[in-house]
Amino acid sequence: MTTTRTIHELRKALDPLGAGADVGLVPTMGALHGGHEALVRRARAECDVVALSIFVNPAQFGPGEDLERYPRDLEQDLLLAEDWGVDLVFAPSVEEMYPEGFATWVDVEGLGGTLEGAARPGHFRGVATVCLKLFNLVGPRRAYFGQKDAQQAALVERMVRDLNLELEIRLVPTARDEDGLALSSRNELLSTEEREAARALPRALAAGERAHRAGGDAAEAARSLLAEERRLRPDYIRVERLDGRVYLLAAVRAGSTRLIDNVLLEGAVE
Ligand code: AMP
Repeated sequence: MTTTRTIHELRKALDPLGAGADVGLVPTMGALHGGHEALVRRARAECDVVALSIFVNPAQFGPGEDLERYPRDLEQDLLLAEDWGVDLVFAPSVEEMYPEGFATWVDVEGLGGTLEGAARPGHFRGVATVCLKLFNLVGPRRAYFGQKDAQQAALVERMVRDLNLELEIRLVPTARDEDGLALSSRNELLSTEEREAARALPRALAAGERAHRAGGDAAEAARSLLAEERRLRPDYIRVERLDGRVYLLAAVRAGSTRLIDNVLLEGAVE
């Protein structure tokens, strides 16, 4: 596995592969877990070369969000990446990605301003911009995104279509802990009590899914179950169509940590 910290090093590592190499990219913010592993394993099965980026992107954090507290452990991440069969890691500094004078941003209208975009103004501008930069830098044939961040994946897919980028976006199902909680780097920030309360989120989504199958109101069913867990403060619980699939999506706060999750109501993620 080759680890690169600068764009120059990344280009040097990619150069010998030549144009048209079958590269799969897994963009992450590090603090790697089983959700990231699922993306890497899929990329490993489908691509000749697997590239993993690790970059806590300040542009997608708003003022007062958890940029400083966001977990970081590059040493451990590199051990895991190697173990999962990653070929190339790109872990740049903030200055490398946003040098002085940086002034160009990608705004995906519509999708960029709803749900997570409404709750976190500017978040998706940061996401779209860093993804476009990573796609330009790595030149992957496919890029892998998790269903857990379904809106992010739909937004990136929109950008790929709108800007005629030559790569395929692959969506990978959400990896969960034994008790159903979606794996997330932010789970590390939860106290024992918050972690216990967080289990209500997947349970509420599952109740919503059952209600939907029975012809009922998915969001209402999820809302009423979540209302029983006083330690979680719901932000939104909504049914939305994203990139041709229908999801029940929810965001909640456990203490000062914001958690998101979703289940599919219609359509499939293979
Ligand atoms: P992050 O490091 O949180 O920015 O996530 C990097 C990528 O991993 C994104 O495409 C996420 O959707 C994906 N991801 C995060 N958690 C999970 C999970 N539990 N299951 C599947 N994919 C995930």
